[in-house]
Amino acid sequence: MTTFIVLLGPPGVGKGTQAKILAETTNLAHVSSGDLFRENIKNQTDLGKLAKSYMDKGELVPDDVTIKMIRDRISRPDCSLGAILDGFPRTPAQAEALEAMLAEFNGQVDAVPYITAAESVLVERTGGRFTCRANGHIYHQTFNPPKKNGICDIDGSELYQRDDDKVETVTVRIRVYLEQTIPLVEYYRKLGKLIEINGAQAVEQVTKDLLAALKK
Ligand code: AMP
Repeated sequence: MTTFIVLLGPPGVGKGTQAKILAETTNLAHVSSGDLFRENIKNQTDLGKLAKSYMDKGELVPDDVTIKMIRDRISRPDCSLGAILDGFPRTPAQAEALEAMLAEFNGQVDAVPYITAAESVLVERTGGRFTCRANGHIYHQTFNPPKKNGICDIDGSELYQRDDDKVETVTVRIRVYLEQTIPLVEYYRKLGKLIEINGAQAVEQVTKDLLAALKK
């Protein structure tokens, strides 16, 4: 038996934060396409160079390389019981590819929490967001500040602001989300897998709502 949960929602809604908490609570692997790309950029791989050219503009990395990267990731042993998928799929082609690859592992997408918030909330959250260099832990200067300025509470590494969290780029990312990812909401709703969650609440409340909805 496997459990694969897809987290859907616009940039800045808190998918990454919630995915990390859910993964710890459920013991499932956390698979974040954005983190995987950022890791490749840090290690200066060919994939990282390619991904950066799209990410810096707020655009999506092409489906073929993204799908291959996720296929490699979920083939690893820590995903044998399933995973929390954070940021993938983001296009209908990725959703179809995911279905096919999970079928190979005798799995399927079991639930799709869809976390929402108004655009003004997203811009405010991404604007104040800081990410840790070592492991991608996420902070916000107002809503979730680290204990020591500029340092990750969990692993002590440096906190930085993502290049693509600049207001101009966030606006493009939200537009790309509306054009390319919103169709997945209807796709998963029709399959009866969509669970709507209000993301404009405190982190702890969103987690409570998520866990309660997933239990059902
Ligand atoms: P995220 O960390 O999820 O906000 O993703 C940061 C950036 O990585 C996005 O703006 C895209 O450029 C790229 N990216 C992440 N996931 C995907 C995906 N599933 N498909 C295409 N591009 C992606």
